[in-house]
Amino acid sequence: MPTPPLIPLVDLAGPIQALRPELERRISALIERGEFVGGAAVSVFESAFAAYLGTPHCVGVASGTDALTLALRAAGVGPGDEVIVPAFSFVATAEAVLLAGAVPRFVDVEIDTALLSLGAVQAALSHRSRAVIAVHLYGRMMELEPLVTWCRDHGLRLVEDAAQAHGARRSGRAAGTVGDLGAFSFYPTKNLGGLGDGGAVVSADPGYARAVRLLANHGRNEEGRHERAGTNSRLDAIQAVALELRLQGLDVDNERRRQVALRYTDALADLPRLVLPVATGHESHVHHLFVVRTPERDLLAEHLGRAGIGTGVYYREPLHLMPAFRDLGYQAGAFPAAEQLAREVLALPMHPTLSRESQDRVIDAVRGFFLARGTEL
Ligand SMILES: *Cc1c(COP(=O)(O)O)cnc(C)c1O
Repeated sequence: MPTPPLIPLVDLAGPIQALRPELERRISALIERGEFVGGAAVSVFESAFAAYLGTPHCVGVASGTDALTLALRAAGVGPGDEVIVPAFSFVATAEAVLLAGAVPRFVDVEIDTALLSLGAVQAALSHRSRAVIAVHLYGRMMELEPLVTWCRDHGLRLVEDAAQAHGARRSGRAAGTVGDLGAFSFYPTKNLGGLGDGGAVVSADPGYARAVRLLANHGRNEEGRHERAGTNSRLDAIQAVALELRLQGLDVDNERRRQVALRYTDALADLPRLVLPVATGHESHVHHLFVVRTPERDLLAEHLGRAGIGTGVYYREPLHLMPAFRDLGYQAGAFPAAEQLAREVLALPMHPTLSRESQDRVIDAVRGFFLARGTEL
């Protein structure tokens, strides 16, 4: 019997093939003009992304990590400050705080959604608290209104880490545009991905946008003077033309992801040892990843691997227990939900071009695992 083709967790080449002729034409034009960093292509993308999100300002930068770091710096975060950060996220969320010169103050997340717990944020307030980072993990947009109000009442800035949530919306407002500043990554695996690294900061506040633009370009102001010590974090023109093209298909891609998620949910809902992502408003989730939970996570991953199905663990270690943040002095047991998630989460294949046939194979393999273990209803 021929072995069935592998089903990768993500497919970076597939979704971009249809765009290749136009992409190659746009890149040739840049080479022709000698336009490589900054320039018209970058401004065009910045305007298009701001318009798509429905916010006035967008500044392209070199990565999502830089977007977070520069957003914090623009918001006035620096040495001596604490930034409240969920204990369960990609490492960059906490790295950015250290890169801005401040200290991350970890708090637990909600077990059902893996999103920041408002009660935990409130309990972590100290006289050093300066900002909160809300992460729209896996593509699920957090309900931000209560946090916005609380941050305003306590003089804290709210930065959204929207690196996994391009195009997610709640009550018509896009992820990244509700807090003081929003940070995006365009790393190739993200819902809006480039041909390399890239990122952006968005804000409704012209002062914050100006500060990010200045800091990202060596602190250089409109008169060409170096006003503050900044860094080099610019979006390059090739990324900008690719991102502007892919932005046109983002809503369609996100809708395809939702269809895959619906199909998985319908087909796996009855398995008692498997926890599926909780349902939310249609628009609010863009399914960057489809993450299930089970105490048998590692066995399930092995079983799927044997069936040629790629999976991933996002994330195997909560931030507070990473060696990188050892100096902050957190202990195991500090954040039970984050620690349980790290033990139980597993991402199933999810991308806009995942075929129905592949979806069926994933579903059959997951069902087969629980059936064989005699735990199915
Ligand atoms: C990808 C990601 C980042 C960092 O983005 P890079 O472009 O890789 O630097 C930050 N936060 C979250 C939640 C991410 O998924």
